[in-house]
Amino acid sequence: MNKFETNAIRTQIERSKFLEHSNPLYLTSSYVFEDAEDMRASFADEKDRNVYSRYSNPNTSEFIEKICAMEAAENGFAFASGMAAVFSTFAALLNSGDHILSSSSVFGSTQSMYKTIFPKWNINTSYFKVNEPESIETLIQPNTKVIYAESPTNPAVDILDLEYLGKIAKKHKLILIVDNCFATPYLQQPIKFGADLVIHSATKLIDGQGRVLGGITVGKAELIQKIYLFARNTGPALSPFNAWILSKSLEILAVRVDRHCENALKVAQFLERHKKVKFVKYPFLKSHPQHELAKKQMKLGGNVVAFEIIGGVEAGREFLNSIKLLSLSANLGDTRTIVTHPASTTHAKLTEAERQEAGISPGMVRVSVGLEHPDDIISDLEQALQF
Ligand SMILES: *Cc1c(COP(=O)(O)O)cnc(C)c1O
Repeated sequence: MNKFETNAIRTQIERSKFLEHSNPLYLTSSYVFEDAEDMRASFADEKDRNVYSRYSNPNTSEFIEKICAMEAAENGFAFASGMAAVFSTFAALLNSGDHILSSSSVFGSTQSMYKTIFPKWNINTSYFKVNEPESIETLIQPNTKVIYAESPTNPAVDILDLEYLGKIAKKHKLILIVDNCFATPYLQQPIKFGADLVIHSATKLIDGQGRVLGGITVGKAELIQKIYLFARNTGPALSPFNAWILSKSLEILAVRVDRHCENALKVAQFLERHKKVKFVKYPFLKSHPQHELAKKQMKLGGNVVAFEIIGGVEAGREFLNSIKLLSLSANLGDTRTIVTHPASTTHAKLTEAERQEAGISPGMVRVSVGLEHPDDIISDLEQALQF
């Protein structure tokens, strides 16, 4: 078994007769059959082959194989976006009347799904607090089917104990699903801690250059088979072009994420010393409340730093207005450093109490640290803090 970096590069789909070195792009919506018998057997699922690109394509297969190798997963399916992966995973596995037990801090659109879409099918959600995992067992109902969590969380960069969640899920025979987007498979492999399925928005650090949308779910083969059958009929598949881009990106994931984390730590250390900053949250700073846990389950601290500016919402907005080099943008995990002010933007629709629950204070700024020179990133933050 090769190591992580090698799998990312050497997971090879079959070469064509041209013996290309770099995996080519297969832009084809369907595939030909040899004869009537080949066609019959293919439609009867008796053959493991490409039939139609809504089901599979060499480029999506390569992407899936690489992520499976990185996450120590049995199988996977690739989606057009992270949200297509989240939705299809739930929709494939849950029935009307089932119950979801979710971390209170999950991605905004996942939260919206719980609140506005799943209740239409009588699927309801309860929430456990990020810093009170002991409360999980008290929230389990006879119809609970899934535990869902993200770690580190967005945007507060809290850490959830994946091993603990894995134990609870096993004990109560629940499916543990972890959205591993912030950590990437390079920093953290939730399956090793007992997750049954791992979801990624590949749009973030997996692409890493802010070009394409993509998503993936990997994990236990029997669960993936259900997700595959749901997806092949409903059509949320990743496009071959995006899969090709993402597979190339994976070849340099380890190198990129190492540098992202190095830069993020420098940014976090700078902010921690600044007098206009009330506190900084970064998993690999000693001051992070779950620093020991982060070190146990993550290789490095990730690229997202959260900090609280003294002066609340107004100060947060002033700070954004003073930024010159860095981007104000909705994405994260890009080569370009991105700053956001969650209380007035991504999380503005939540009530104050809901924001508190998700760990979002009024002056909190989230920095997705990119790959510019760290001195330049810090200079821009420093001048913007002088408002
Ligand atoms: C961005 C994101 C998603 C959604 O992914 P898209 O590719 O934008 O659909 C899901 N979870 C997390 C943690 C994210 O950051």
